[in-house]
Amino acid sequence: MSFATEFDSLPLSTLLHRAATASTAAARASLDRATPELADFAQLLSPGAADLLEPLGRRARRLTQQRFGKVIRLFAPLYLSNECINNCRYCGFSRDNPILRVTLTVAEARREAEALLAQGFRNILLVSGEHPKFVSHSYLAECVAALHESTPSLSLEIGPMETDAYRPLVRAGAEGLVVYQETYDRGTYAEMHTSGPKRNFAWRLETPERGYAAGFRRLGIGALYGLADWRAEALCVAAHALYLLRHCWKASLTISLPRLRPCAGEFQPLTRMSDRELVQLVCAFRVLFPDVGLVLSTRESPRLRDGLVPLGITLMSAGSHTEPGGYTGVGQDKLHRTERGRVVGLGASEWAGNGSPAHATEQFHIADNRPAHEVAERIRGLGYEPVWKDWDAALTP
Ligand code: SF4
Repeated sequence: MSFATEFDSLPLSTLLHRAATASTAAARASLDRATPELADFAQLLSPGAADLLEPLGRRARRLTQQRFGKVIRLFAPLYLSNECINNCRYCGFSRDNPILRVTLTVAEARREAEALLAQGFRNILLVSGEHPKFVSHSYLAECVAALHESTPSLSLEIGPMETDAYRPLVRAGAEGLVVYQETYDRGTYAEMHTSGPKRNFAWRLETPERGYAAGFRRLGIGALYGLADWRAEALCVAAHALYLLRHCWKASLTISLPRLRPCAGEFQPLTRMSDRELVQLVCAFRVLFPDVGLVLSTRESPRLRDGLVPLGITLMSAGSHTEPGGYTGVGQDKLHRTERGRVVGLGASEWAGNGSPAHATEQFHIADNRPAHEVAERIRGLGYEPVWKDWDAALTP
């Protein structure tokens, strides 16, 4: 049974009731259980559990150090293209946004990767919008093959594909596949995804399974917090993770916790999750999943990121750019708008506004602008070791 089928029979309303109403005493009992279950996780998300942040943090810290050591792995996103055929109301790359677009050539992607390698990164996440005309399957395979020569660990965050379409990417050297459901609330999902193939909720939900069948050995999932109730989203992410741990057990799993950031289109979050609630969620995930990697991006402020280092986060992006060419400026000579799939050239004023060359539009504004070496230094200062490489591949027989 796929997760999409299992998802429909989850007792979500019961779990959500626990997450909304559990008392501090009930949450304490869940925290004290040796092997917490999904119902305990629900209680650890409750407002009642907010009073237990200190003991929750202590358990999360202890588990993280036991399973992962005092180590934070670093990675960087490398955006290949900001072309997209979908309209997602919360995303700057949405098809109908009149933004500056570009798709890097394979050589340009290599230059971006070289810049990241020179900074020390060995773990790169290739990111792209979904557009068959500009971002073909063969183009993606060429990029992976070109970068695999120099980059020990490559993952992909791209439009969902069929299992057979993923196989050449795995053969070319991609190890990881990241796909966020964005929201697990079907109604909100339909409202947010107004056109394009991404409207198909179940197709996206089953993507990690297809990726696993194709041979990816690292899977990343998550929800985008700010679209629907955060406790409901977290419960669905946890149920999804439990399913993947049972059915895709040869893969290592990561969960990301992105909160919505400002972007082109000026979409405002529909729901709120406070910093304190994010801390509670990180700790609750760690307690339910002692061995699952937890990912934090530069969407969060330096202060919050630093504070979350000891509490359960194991993987962080650093020094990120969320536009193609962001690290070296490559691709600036090809900037354009895209209308109905056709490339439209820029006028002189758009090309060099304010006297400086234009650059491709970013997906969202980041909140932690520190260069990667500064983030690494801070991690060291906190008593943790920043690791630039994902060593899973070396440990996998
Ligand atoms: S979220 Fe992804 S699919 Fe949606 S518009 Fe942005 S890049 Fe395209």
